[in-house]
Amino acid sequence: MKDILVAVAWPYANSQIHVGNIAGSYLPADIFARFQRLSGNRVAMVSGSDSHGTPVAVRADAEGSTPYQVYQKYHATFLELFQKLGLAYDLFTSTHTDNHFRVSQTIFLALLENGYLYADRQQQWYSPVSGRFLPDRYVEGTCYLCGYPNARGDQCDGCGELLDATLLINPRSKADGSIPELRETVHYFLDLGKLQPAVVEFLKERKDYWRPNVLNQSLGQILAKGLHGRAITRDLDWGIPVPVEDWKGKCLYVWFEAVIGYLSATIEWAQLNGQPDAWHDWWTSPAARAYYFIGKDNIPFHAVIWPAQLAGSGETFVKIFEEVEGQALVLPFDVPANEFMNLEGQKISGSRNWAVWGLDFLERYDPDPLRYYLTVNMPESKDTDWDWKEFIQRNNNELLATWGNLANRVLAFCYRNWEGKVPQPGTLRPQDLEILTAVEAGFKSVGEHLEAVRLRAALAEGFRLAGEVNKYLDSAAPWFEIKTDKSAAATTIYTALRCIDSLKILLAPFLPFTSEKLHQFLGYDAPLFGEQWIEELQDGLGTHAVLRYRPGNASGSWTASSLEPGKALRQPAPLIKKLEESLADQERQRLGTT
Ligand SMILES: [Zn+2]
Repeated sequence: MKDILVAVAWPYANSQIHVGNIAGSYLPADIFARFQRLSGNRVAMVSGSDSHGTPVAVRADAEGSTPYQVYQKYHATFLELFQKLGLAYDLFTSTHTDNHFRVSQTIFLALLENGYLYADRQQQWYSPVSGRFLPDRYVEGTCYLCGYPNARGDQCDGCGELLDATLLINPRSKADGSIPELRETVHYFLDLGKLQPAVVEFLKERKDYWRPNVLNQSLGQILAKGLHGRAITRDLDWGIPVPVEDWKGKCLYVWFEAVIGYLSATIEWAQLNGQPDAWHDWWTSPAARAYYFIGKDNIPFHAVIWPAQLAGSGETFVKIFEEVEGQALVLPFDVPANEFMNLEGQKISGSRNWAVWGLDFLERYDPDPLRYYLTVNMPESKDTDWDWKEFIQRNNNELLATWGNLANRVLAFCYRNWEGKVPQPGTLRPQDLEILTAVEAGFKSVGEHLEAVRLRAALAEGFRLAGEVNKYLDSAAPWFEIKTDKSAAATTIYTALRCIDSLKILLAPFLPFTSEKLHQFLGYDAPLFGEQWIEELQDGLGTHAVLRYRPGNASGSWTASSLEPGKALRQPAPLIKKLEESLADQERQRLGTT
């Protein structure tokens, strides 16, 4: 039994979530976490709303409200979406909590004590129009590296590089388009140059199994350009105060504190469970494995900067936090970052409404068809495209034809002809043993893909096996067998039920709702997975709602079926709905309209 941290990207609480976000990080994390739970490992899947920083402040300006109101509004939509989509976070919280403030400030103090922070003067864009310093994200201009015209001050979407905002060409304020001027201000910097040897060593230990795109943007970039100090505070009042006297009016930079959320959320989760020390199992035990599920735009922050923050904090974080010596924080084991998903051949754009929004989608469709399509199309190694016509076709020709119909026709036929019970088979024939062996081998083959976070390959392997069971049934044809030899038909149906019972588990990480239903039809009482619920919490900063998960009496396990003859089934019903082809055109017409 292993302790697995599933750390999931923190969505900015300034916009709804679209299918590209879901395919990029949230869904892959959930598939992986569900597999690990089925395998008997102890999982902590944590994340929350990134409630601070410029994106939220920008939205508040645009909506004429406060950053707190904006964060609360979008945070609530995240909780609703994740619960409906079955993203089983052990805890989805927010960065606007007392606990996160304290953990973030302690990381800051640990880095300060260890000599990895320094204060320095800095030139920063100042807006004479609004009378304040502009955070990097408030400034846009032409990228000085690649010439992309709409680069943000902190990062360029054209070349993906982190930028020095003061070097932007033709800068303009994102708020009002006015031209800012450079003025001097004082900030704390993370001494990444000093941390470079530790980060390089960390990356080299992982280079045999990390995805090439992640290695290129981490180790490759460091070896080419080296690491340099980076400001971790800013002149902004919406965020976490710098925990040093005489630094009023300055906050921790959102990129610095949001990643600390993985740690603070685990600590909050342990406290909520009444086991406040339990977070150590995922964070200070060297055997723990931490996986970070993010999109490619987040690679430098998770593969370079966050490991630098952790390495630089060393044993000092726990020493300050709990007055315990000798416990360092665990560095990432893997950062399986995904590329982007586009939409009908164009980049997804929320502002143009060129997007398929998660909650809106679920008003009209079930969650598992979305999970299926996003997984077969997951941008694991290159950008992919959401195509409405393809979504409908894959739902009908794969999810329904290969899997939904297979389960439904076997269950319905069995229910009708064997009094709603699993039939007593005769001696298993070579073809029965062959298909049982093939499907049971899936626990190894699908499991190996899942363990290595090759989710597309894992799902494809599961569906290949479902296809084999279809072939077996077509060849045995129990619907005809039963007319001449009911015992032979019983053997076939018993074998098929065992295969379906196993496939139910193999596909459960991807299709949890379908598998849960099928599990009931097969007569089981305890559910496969635990339950999710939303809860309102209070602390000194206000209320924050959280999404939680508890295993309860979950009974699913990554093992082959041992379905017993005579077991009572429940009345089956279709698992997957057929979708009309004409829906694709209707959906396309919604795109780009506001
Ligand atoms: Zn660029």
